[in-house]
Amino acid sequence: MNNFEYVNATSLKEAAAALASSWTDAVVLAGGTDLLGLMKDYVMSPKRLVNIKNIKELGGITKSGAGLRIGATVTFDELANSALVRQGYPSLYAAVMGVTSPQIRNMGTVGGDLCQRPRCWYFRLGHGVLGEKDGKSLVADGENKYHAIFPEGRAHFVSASSLGPALVALGARVKLVSAAGSRELEAAKFFVAPQSNEAREIALLPNEILTEVVLPAAGKNATYEVRQKDALDWPLVTASVNLTMKGTAVTAANIVLGHVGPTPRHAAGAEQALIGKAVTADLAMAVGEAAVKGAKALSQNAYKIQLARVAVKRALLEAVGVKA
Ligand SMILES: Cc1cc2nc3c(=O)[nH]c(=O)nc-3n(C[C@H](O)[C@H](O)[C@H](O)COP(=O)(O)OP(=O)(O)OC[C@H]3O[C@@H](n4cnc5c(N)ncnc54)[C@H](O)[C@@H]3O)c2cc1C
Repeated sequence: MNNFEYVNATSLKEAAAALASSWTDAVVLAGGTDLLGLMKDYVMSPKRLVNIKNIKELGGITKSGAGLRIGATVTFDELANSALVRQGYPSLYAAVMGVTSPQIRNMGTVGGDLCQRPRCWYFRLGHGVLGEKDGKSLVADGENKYHAIFPEGRAHFVSASSLGPALVALGARVKLVSAAGSRELEAAKFFVAPQSNEAREIALLPNEILTEVVLPAAGKNATYEVRQKDALDWPLVTASVNLTMKGTAVTAANIVLGHVGPTPRHAAGAEQALIGKAVTADLAMAVGEAAVKGAKALSQNAYKIQLARVAVKRALLEAVGVKA
C-alpha cells in the first residue's frame, strides 16, 4: 500500500473541503472494508483518505414524511436492527440480511455499499472496470461465470451492491454533497455503466460525499437473492420488487434485477405484464420469463438466466404473500 494522508473529519464541511477533483488525490473512507483491500492491492492509490465515520449528521435512520431517511454511515447491522426498515421495507431488510459476515455487517456502511467497486476479478487484477487488455475484453474469452448476462456496451462486470437493487425498486433517492453545494439523484441514476477505464460505475464525482438515502413510502415489497453459500460472498442474482396494489390487483410495479449487469436493471417489459392483474404463481412465472428477455449469456454464465427467472417469480410471490 502506498503512503497516504489521513483526514479525520468531524463535520461535513471539513470532509467536503478535504476532497479534491480527482480520485487519485483524495477519496472518502467509511468502514474501509472495500477501499483498504483495493489500496493494499494497488488498484486504488489515493494520496489522501477522508474519514467520514465521525461525522454525526451522516448517521441515523429516521422517519422522513411518509418515508425514511438513512444516513450514509449507517452500518448493515444498524439497518438490520431497525424496526422501521424491517417493517416498512422488507425488501431492503432481506438485502441487508443477505450480508452475513459479522465483520462486514459491523463495519460496512450504506454509502460504502453503494459506492463499492466491482468484484470483477479482472478489475481487481488491475485491468480496469472494463476488464480489457490491449483493447480486448478479458471477460469474453476468460473466466466469466459471475459476470453480466445483461452487459451494457463494453461493461461486463456486475454491480456489486446488495442494497442497490432494493433501493432502486423502492424508488429511493441519494443526496450528494460537495464544497460547492448539493444535489439529489434517483438511486436508479446513481449507477452507470462506464465505457472507459477512466470512468466510474457510479454518478458520484470525486469531490462529492453521498450523505443520505431517502426512501418514499413503499408498496408491497420483497427481495429474493440467490447465493452460492450463506457467508462471505455476493449474490449470484437478486430480484427486488415493489408493487402498488388496489385490492388484489397490481396498479404499478417495479421489478429490478441485481448482479446481472453493470447497473441494477429494471425489467420494464416484465413490469407491464403485471398491471391490472392479481399475482398468481402462473403469472409470476410468466413475469420471470419476461424479465430475462434479451439476456445474453457468456461462455460460463447461462445458469444465471434461470436464476433470474426464478428470483423474479419468488420475489413477486413473497411480496404478495402467496406460497410458491
Ligand atoms: C468478504 C466480503 C463479503 C461481502 N459481501 C457483500 C455482499 O454480499 N453484498 C454487498 O453488497 N457487499 C458485500 N461486501 C462488500 C461490502 O458491503 C462493502 O465492502 C461495504 O459495504 C463497503 O462499505 P464501507 O463503509 O466499508 O466502505 P469503504 O470500503 O470505506 O468504501 C468503499 C468505497 O466507497 C467510497 N465511499 C464510502 N462511503 C462513501 C460516501 N458516503 N460517499 C462517497 N463515497 C463513499 C469509498 O471512497 C470507496 O471507494 C462484502 C465484502 C467482503 C470483504
